[in-house]
Amino acid sequence: MAVILVTGGAGFIGSHLVEYLLEQGHEVLSLDNYFTGCKANLRHLQEHARLELIRHDIVSPIMLEVEQIYHLACPASPVHYQYNPVKTIKTNVMGTLNMLGLAKRVKARILLASTSEVYGDPLMHPQKEDYWGNVNCLGLRSCYDEGKRVAETLMMDYHRQNGVDIRIARIFNTYGPRMALNDGRVISNFIVQALTGQDITVYGEGRQTRSFCYVSDLVEGLVRLMNCPDFHEPVNLGNPEEYPIVDLARKIIALTHSPSRLVFGPLPPDDPAQRQPDISRARNLLQWQPTVPLEEGLKNTIPYFMKILGELKRTVVAGPFAPGL
Ligand code: NAD
Ligand code: UDP
Repeated sequence: MAVILVTGGAGFIGSHLVEYLLEQGHEVLSLDNYFTGCKANLRHLQEHARLELIRHDIVSPIMLEVEQIYHLACPASPVHYQYNPVKTIKTNVMGTLNMLGLAKRVKARILLASTSEVYGDPLMHPQKEDYWGNVNCLGLRSCYDEGKRVAETLMMDYHRQNGVDIRIARIFNTYGPRMALNDGRVISNFIVQALTGQDITVYGEGRQTRSFCYVSDLVEGLVRLMNCPDFHEPVNLGNPEEYPIVDLARKIIALTHSPSRLVFGPLPPDDPAQRQPDISRARNLLQWQPTVPLEEGLKNTIPYFMKILGELKRTVVAGPFAPGL
């Protein structure tokens, strides 16, 4: 069994990965600055003898003895990564440099959680790994898109120059339990709006498409990629089922039996018009493909948000400002 570092371990994907690695018998170090992640995501594991929580910001170097590094630390929702864009760039550039420095020193294998955003607003559809992308280097999304592109460059240069054993996963839109209530991404927004009877905020006409991967499928793909022998090129991980955003909104209304109505607002700048992974490489190399269809994944995710919203309500009712107290 290995000693494994997960940066961003208290985040949405990170917490599922930590859980999976513990189940496999590994010793896991979760490193996080709790910007968008929270300890509650790992609360059910906090007494676990093989889990260690480290509060640290990857913009500063850290010395640890580990055999594998899953490098996930970075805010992933546009709302969060645009909150402090300079910090997002520092996290992607200085943070990845620090993790690569660590990997080089202790000879650990390192996997970068890169993103489909490196393809920008893609002119090739579906997107294959050899497509170089169509990214605006000046736009509001560029702190994230370009940040991840530099992170990939750093990975490749540390591999070529220093022989660091790298893996690059290009993750497409992923969803599931433990997305933050205020995450701002489309699936959590629509579910929370539907469950609370608010209007469903479709940006633009909702004709833009995304392909949604359930988190357990993604974690399986990440672990297979980390453990596949000697492959250093990027690998797309995502579910190729592609949906217009307005169809997603209707599906969530139907599954939650919600009275919510659709409202159409402005499309954010540089919002990609379409996105769908070509996963031939992952299929051939990792014998991996997603197994959870969108409807099933949504049916697993909706009860999570119902629970969180219920807890929130109870806190307010029982709190010092509750009516009647
Ligand atoms: P998330 O925001 O839930 O998790 C990110 C975690 O990183 C959080 O726990 C946060 O507190 C931590 N973090 C952020 N900056 C840090 C810093 N400077 N130092 C230490 N910790 C820091 O997001 P997620 O959806 O779990 O995404 C995880 C990774 O996967 C990210 O790198 C993201 O770019 C990538 N990714 C996610 C998706 C997706 O759809 N969820 C798609 C593509 C790529
Ligand atoms: N979106 C939307 N309403 C929302 C949040 C997002 O219509 O409340 C749209 C957004 O404009 C984009 C798509 O849904 O076209 C996916 O957005 P998300 O932020 O989840 O991911 P990304 O744009 O990074 O793929």
